[in-house]
Amino acid sequence: MPVELLGKSQQELREWMASLGEPAYRGAQVYHALYAERRFDFAAMTNLPAALHERLKRQAAITLPAVARKYQSADGAVRYLLPLGPQPAAAGGSEAPPTRRATVEAVFMPSEGRQTICISTQAGCAVDCKYCLTATLGLVRNLSAGEIVGQVLVALEDNRERLAPRTNVVLMGQGEPLLNYDATMAAVRILLDPNALALSPRHVTLSTSGIVPGIERLAKEKVRPKLAVSLNASNDSERDALMPINRKYPIAALLEACRRYPLRPWERLTFEYVLLGGVNDSADDARRVARLVGGLRAKVNLIPWNPGVPQSGMPYAPPTPAAIEEFRSILAEKQVPVFVRYSRGQDIFAACGQLAVIESGIETHA
Ligand code: SAH
Ligand code: SF4
Repeated sequence: MPVELLGKSQQELREWMASLGEPAYRGAQVYHALYAERRFDFAAMTNLPAALHERLKRQAAITLPAVARKYQSADGAVRYLLPLGPQPAAAGGSEAPPTRRATVEAVFMPSEGRQTICISTQAGCAVDCKYCLTATLGLVRNLSAGEIVGQVLVALEDNRERLAPRTNVVLMGQGEPLLNYDATMAAVRILLDPNALALSPRHVTLSTSGIVPGIERLAKEKVRPKLAVSLNASNDSERDALMPINRKYPIAALLEACRRYPLRPWERLTFEYVLLGGVNDSADDARRVARLVGGLRAKVNLIPWNPGVPQSGMPYAPPTPAAIEEFRSILAEKQVPVFVRYSRGQDIFAACGQLAVIESGIETHA
């Protein structure tokens, strides 16, 4: 079996090269060619000798996620439906037993001077937030580091001709990144490494439903993305109903972890707040949110709920424009930095998890 190289760190590639009896620095050269130059064909790795090309072709593989379908939005966003293979075997172990077919989504969103790429960290999700389509899939499986970083590479490759100088990555597709911690962080380190994709930590954002031990672990990392926390409610009873994870990590514990989180000088936390019409979008909710986040160096992103497919059957409605504006102005009056974020690509079902839900019946031809 050829060894899969996508997702390996520089150190892992060095060790693997050494295990083949090649000089370890060849591993660092593959690392650079793969992630910095984005060469996915060994023959194109011009920094390696020809004899090594041949050997790598026999003994190794670079497998980018296959694109089963591609959807172009009128607003320029492109959404990729990516069927994944069987769960990659753990080091030294045998292949995991077959699970339901894992299909994830990645979205490329161009804007002035930059592109934002939204990627998934798990197929499906176990957290079960009531407003989220991904939740209806349950957890299918964790993604490997290679499958996570591979989504960014696919989106960059496919748009090679129109790339802006700056790339933002948001871990806001399917899945709860802090419940697939090791693979997610291995991928993030590759994204942030100046010798690899070289993205700025200011431009990579991990969004969590509020897994407190994960936030505490992230706080200790030397290299880490920015942190966004999905708050989505202004008190525990409301949050319990929308996000059952709140019973395990209630608002006070979550905010305490946020208070202790060591922000870098340029950094502030983001709280995401999905506005559900008539559920969590009242003026009282806004005042309570202002009190909760008031003492923190933080901003709030208000996200009007995206109903997605009409047949999703979810008992929610988007907020009215008046409710959005009132909520926003209450936070702003209380000096909380606040922004309203509309989902891009609504015409291509760009809400979290939608494509996988719609397409879960189709046969893919990878
Ligand atoms: N699991 C992580 C990251 C993925 S979800 C998390 O929950 O934070 C990314 C964001 O999309 C979260 O803030 C989530 O609350 C929001 N979201 C989920 N479904 C949505 C929908 N239908 N409309 C608008 N936002 C949604
Ligand atoms: Fe999972 Fe995030 Fe969806 Fe909640 S909102 S079910 S944590 S993907």
